[in-house]
Amino acid sequence: MEKRFFNGPPSPEEFQSRLQEFMRQHLAGAPQPKADAAEPPESPEPPPPGADFSFSKKPREVKAYLDRFVIRQDDAKKVLSVALCDHYHHVRLAFEGKDQSNYAKQNVILLGPTGVGKTYLIRNAADLIGVPFVKGDATKFSETGYVGGDVEDLVRELLRRADGDIRRAQYGIIYIDEIDKIAAASGLNGRDVSGRGVQTNLLKLMEETEVPARSPNDLSGQIQAMMDFSQRGKKQPGTINTRHILFIVSGAFDGLEKIVKKRQREAAIGFASPPAKAGAEASTLDEARTRDFIEFGFEPEFIGRLPVRVVCHPLSVEDLYTILKSSEGSIIRQYEQTFAAYGIEVLFADDGLRRIAELAGEESTGARGLMTVCERVFRDFKFDLPSTLVRRFVVTRELVDAPAVELARLLAEHEKQERVVARQLVDDFAERFHETHKLGLRFTGPAADRLVALALEESIPVRELCAGRFKDFQFGLKLIAQNTGQQEFVIDIDAVEAPEKTLSEWVVKSYRAG
Ligand code: ADP
Repeated sequence: MEKRFFNGPPSPEEFQSRLQEFMRQHLAGAPQPKADAAEPPESPEPPPPGADFSFSKKPREVKAYLDRFVIRQDDAKKVLSVALCDHYHHVRLAFEGKDQSNYAKQNVILLGPTGVGKTYLIRNAADLIGVPFVKGDATKFSETGYVGGDVEDLVRELLRRADGDIRRAQYGIIYIDEIDKIAAASGLNGRDVSGRGVQTNLLKLMEETEVPARSPNDLSGQIQAMMDFSQRGKKQPGTINTRHILFIVSGAFDGLEKIVKKRQREAAIGFASPPAKAGAEASTLDEARTRDFIEFGFEPEFIGRLPVRVVCHPLSVEDLYTILKSSEGSIIRQYEQTFAAYGIEVLFADDGLRRIAELAGEESTGARGLMTVCERVFRDFKFDLPSTLVRRFVVTRELVDAPAVELARLLAEHEKQERVVARQLVDDFAERFHETHKLGLRFTGPAADRLVALALEESIPVRELCAGRFKDFQFGLKLIAQNTGQQEFVIDIDAVEAPEKTLSEWVVKSYRAG
């Protein structure tokens, strides 16, 4: 059957071949590549990789580093430290030209609920080792790469993170979250995505493949590459070999525990049940075997390429408290800095930290809950305080429980202190008036309060406000003094509200009296 042109979008393959046809036709007359092009090729053949790659860390060092940032997850930190050291020692040896053909890559599968430090572990490890790191989400991939993203895009992203340095990209870390969502058994809300197909694509990457540095789906990039090639003989940019890229996949694996338990129950019939793993953090997921993953929906080849299994455990309220208090990347430091930028000091009291941890625990999103709670608690503080004169505050349990009430109290208290000072400033104005003009002003309580309130409302200094309001008083009062001999004047609230009117009434009266 003949393909009709306007019958929906062409398939990716069809599109690719049409594009090539178009290029052939339109660039037919273009000059052929010059053999002796004076210009050097844009991307020279990369030198043999690794001359500059060094790695000499030991697992204990890696773990000690991770301990600074990641609370708990002790088993995970140990196993990861070993796997990472193994991998990067082999990479170094391979780059030194030593035969590594027997080496099976230590790709990792990380299991555990959201927000317990899986990504954080890997990101920090990558920082320590000094390799580029990229994180992707398995639910974004499709088999063909035309819906959403392509697994190969991650490799190209790694290149970007390595500032275009192909050699560095070739020993980076690719982290793919939500890998459990591409298990064949789980449907992906009706999207045309085959988990099995994505697994196959990923498998190829995890083994060894050459990924073009320029995406075949990047139309303008492709056209540019072809034009460069046909017009100037420039080479296509290189390819990235994935042999030494470390792959780490992770997911919550809901449902896997059930599978493990079922297998354990079946094994227990007739045999002694296997001893459960000891230790405070042990869970059923620690017992997951290859066959459990296969039953969950993974291809045996796929799961076989992930020999290192690591379980991260849920975090208790106590853990969340420790994260706030002691982890190097604690969100508390972030808040301290945010407020400090406005010259405001914040002190986190212990009971305040505990309350934040308790509320975060209720969110059931691991340490992410800490961010949610802090954001909710400090939202108005961040908005209001920078525009006030409040310079410090303490985060107590009460503040965490009722931030609005505490904020109002803080502002009111501050205002009270402000009023005391402002009141003194009013008296000070009267004193200076007396020194300059030898006439006494006595502000009544309500009058002084009103002046203070006006100054706060209008955000102007009290002295300035008084000077403005009573600017004509020196003249008017002098007249009155001449007429009646009065030396001291009581300024009441009416005089504050309508100074000119009051003064002229007084003057008129003084003529009558005189
Ligand atoms: P996930 O397990 O879903 O990958 P992340 O590692 O991205 O979760 O955690 C989110 C954030 O929570 C991290 O950036 C980090 O600030 C904090 N966090 C999570 N787990 C821990 C932990 N065990 N110790 C210290 N901080 C943690």
